Amino acid sequence: MAWSFWQIQELNKNYDLTIVGAGFTGLHTAIAFKRKYPKASVLIVDQGLGVNAASNRNAGFACFGSPTELLANYQHLGRDAALTMAQKRREGIEFLAHTYGKACDYVPVTSHELFLDAKHDFEHVVSELKLLNADLKSVGFATETFKPSLNAQLEINQIEICGEGQLNPAKLHNALLDNCRAVGIQFCNAKFIDHQLLQDDIAVELEGGMIIKTTALVLATNGFSNTTNIKPARAQVLITEPIYNLQLEGNYHFDKGYYYLRNVGDRVLFGGGRNLDFETETTTDLSLNEFIQSHLENLLRNKLLQNVPFQIAHKWAGIMGIRQDGTPKVEVLGNHIFRIEGMSGMGVALSPVLAQELVELL
Ligand SMILES: Cc1cc2nc3c(=O)[nH]c(=O)nc-3n(C[C@H](O)[C@H](O)[C@H](O)COP(=O)(O)OP(=O)(O)OC[C@H]3O[C@@H](n4cnc5c(N)ncnc54)[C@H](O)[C@@H]3O)c2cc1C
Repeated sequence: MAWSFWQIQELNKNYDLTIVGAGFTGLHTAIAFKRKYPKASVLIVDQGLGVNAASNRNAGFACFGSPTELLANYQHLGRDAALTMAQKRREGIEFLAHTYGKACDYVPVTSHELFLDAKHDFEHVVSELKLLNADLKSVGFATETFKPSLNAQLEINQIEICGEGQLNPAKLHNALLDNCRAVGIQFCNAKFIDHQLLQDDIAVELEGGMIIKTTALVLATNGFSNTTNIKPARAQVLITEPIYNLQLEGNYHFDKGYYYLRNVGDRVLFGGGRNLDFETETTTDLSLNEFIQSHLENLLRNKLLQNVPFQIAHKWAGIMGIRQDGTPKVEVLGNHIFRIEGMSGMGVALSPVLAQELVELL
């Protein structure tokens, strides 16, 4: 990321819209707002140059949910809400592919849900596929989104998923920053402390005592939000060194979306396992969880890439934000004050769609 974005700028101290958070959500919101109101003045405030943002630690899956994830959502959210969320994710993927596809190396790929052992009842999920496919078709998906097949390499059952993709999240983030700069959106590298309603506008207090006035305020701080409604959820990821003659291609999920695996060129990226230690992973601390990291590595070595020699190149962690009700959404906090947070592990696809929804309220 170019430092010039973040160099101290002459701030107007009076903006039409101030957004806190320069992750995907904040940036999409700013761009959508400028598209609607080209003359408006927009400021984005971020405390960490976007470096700690989930958006910059992301695994690059442009996905809408595997069959077990969707069935789990049916149970927790109800059928209509689960389908609406899948639909929004599909729309987000289409938007990204169309608008930023080239800039972020978007490629459509076949995804797969793997059934690694007996506890995941493949037969049960297959018996629900007809219904799931028909439901998805009713909200604009292909006729047969999910199709059972055999993974010949691993000799296990899988369900193929049509309509997902892969992208380079760092390139997407940079493209969004470029777009913001091109339309005159300003940035301020500072920590947001608080806000106060004034008679006609809102006073925004930043670290160091700086006060900015704004007509509307959007909080897009995600897992770092200090609210009872949104909990931080740390995610662990690793990536291998290039693997000679790698046979694995596309996206793979298992265990209701708790694990995700994909090729990145001739490397393998593997993440997840938060469900092994929910309590420890409910944190904004960016440390690695050695227990989960070694579990991921063992799973990769002994099950997913059996007999394929590989070295781990990098391991990292990032912080997601999860709403208590499990549904990412726009929240109206007050007159001209909004929260758009809690994107969970779906922010790639969902953030542009929810950003657009928010801008329609502004
Ligand atoms: C390791 C990992 C892998 C993931 N993989 C995927 C994936 O493959 N596909 C997918 O769809 N999703 C994935 N996700 C989730 C996805 O990255 C998030 O849903 C998405 O990036 C959320 O974007 P955001 O802009 O809402 O939040 P963030 O990207 O977290 O941005 C929030 C911003 O707010 C700033 N901020 C917070 N508090 C303050 C404050 N007080 N003052 C100023 N600034 C503040 C932070 O510095 C940060 O830049 C993954 C997440 C992680 C952690």
